[in-house]
Amino acid sequence: MPAVVGAPAGPGLINRSHDLFKIVMRVPDEISDAEARGIINAMPPDIADTLEAVLAPRVRYASIVFLKMLGQWLVNAKEAKASGKKVILVPFNFVPEFVHAFENAVPITSEFLTTVAGNATQGKGHRYWDEAMGLGIPDHLCSASTIELGSMLGRDDLEADAIISCTAGACDANAKIHEFVANYLGIPQFIVEKPVDDSERGIEAYKKSFFRMVDQVQEFVGEEIKEERLRKVIEYCNRAAELHYQIWELKKNIPCPVPNLYNMWIYGTRFTMWGRPEAVRTMQVLADDSRKKLESGEYPAPEELARCGWLYTGYYIDFGGFYNWMEEQGYSYLFDVLDLFFPEPISTENKQVMLEGMCEAARTFTMTRQMGAESMSVAWIEDAIHMAKEMNTNCGIYCGHHACKQTWSVISIVQKELMDRIGAPTLALQGDAWLSGVTPMSSLQADIDEFIRNVVVKKKKSKEKKIRSRGGAK
Ligand code: SF4
Repeated sequence: MPAVVGAPAGPGLINRSHDLFKIVMRVPDEISDAEARGIINAMPPDIADTLEAVLAPRVRYASIVFLKMLGQWLVNAKEAKASGKKVILVPFNFVPEFVHAFENAVPITSEFLTTVAGNATQGKGHRYWDEAMGLGIPDHLCSASTIELGSMLGRDDLEADAIISCTAGACDANAKIHEFVANYLGIPQFIVEKPVDDSERGIEAYKKSFFRMVDQVQEFVGEEIKEERLRKVIEYCNRAAELHYQIWELKKNIPCPVPNLYNMWIYGTRFTMWGRPEAVRTMQVLADDSRKKLESGEYPAPEELARCGWLYTGYYIDFGGFYNWMEEQGYSYLFDVLDLFFPEPISTENKQVMLEGMCEAARTFTMTRQMGAESMSVAWIEDAIHMAKEMNTNCGIYCGHHACKQTWSVISIVQKELMDRIGAPTLALQGDAWLSGVTPMSSLQADIDEFIRNVVVKKKKSKEKKIRSRGGAK
């Protein structure tokens, strides 16, 4: 399909990111401060800002391992076409390991490509967003998918051969833009629908929809998934899940030894290479490095002032100004909703059992389990309260992503429940998680700072005073 008539010529988001990551893949795992500085100085300003954050000495080694894994993911997608493999586009609430189970198909993930472009290309994702708007796509759609899909529609870019849509029933904004792209490019879309029914009946209906998609994709790729290959993929998933829970436990320590940025690296791994050996290696490095920080007592601020649970997404527009800045103030970022995918070990007994395990992972995946639940507010509150208790969170922050009308509709209920049930106040921000032009990072920082210093810290101090006056009893 040719690019849209009248669209400016020039490389698209995947092609540009791929070129940059080819360079990243040549960087050794361990580099000195001087080498890191040399790389940063050679880059245009937006990319240099990102590198400044991810190559900060305390996160450098793990970040390089993660970025190389992402590079491999992009290379796999680019090379797939040349070798006759199918490129399957999936949204971030789908299990990429399903596509990794094919020899002749590779997955790319819309929202993660947008995140990569927003940080690894000069000009961030804005030009692709503007092009999507130029096509008449309404601006109330989600920038998470629209930026990447705008590039696919309007540029000389890698085009997917098919789309698996897993957001029907969980997010209309997401489902609609994927449907539009499938129609526009004339490629098939395989839909897995989540009924708003979490009873046995709803689970059965989801399973039917998932297995229908399995048959359709097998027919489209022209390959039946082989049991041995599937087993390998599941074994890698299970090992990555074990490492995920090791990091989870480490986060419970005060101060949190897991750097804020690693939240992003964990779910970036989950959304791209889960089921591959590269994902296991990345998760191992993240776990080992966090454990090392716990043992050495390394924490970037003199004191951990706030243990924050981000109730929906974070902001993916400025890693340094967001993740690193927060932890330098003593504000730990313990989780956001994208971390809440709770992987269960999957039995490798036979092909059917393994696919059923994948199906259940998809049904309970992040976003689907909250926004596609029988009651969106109840499922969201349950997850938020559970996590807040597990992690000893003393505040919630809602990013107020502008496209997320559904979460805006219930955030006040979530806010009230968090306060009533665990005494954690919640800050509701306003800003687009993927577009830096909507609310600048400096405004977000000012709001977070004011909230933590004037509400969270004061509350914490008065609680400590009460405990002391009762002679230490809680
Ligand atoms: S961030 Fe909100 S609008 Fe975007 S895909 Fe997720 S639920 Fe939908």
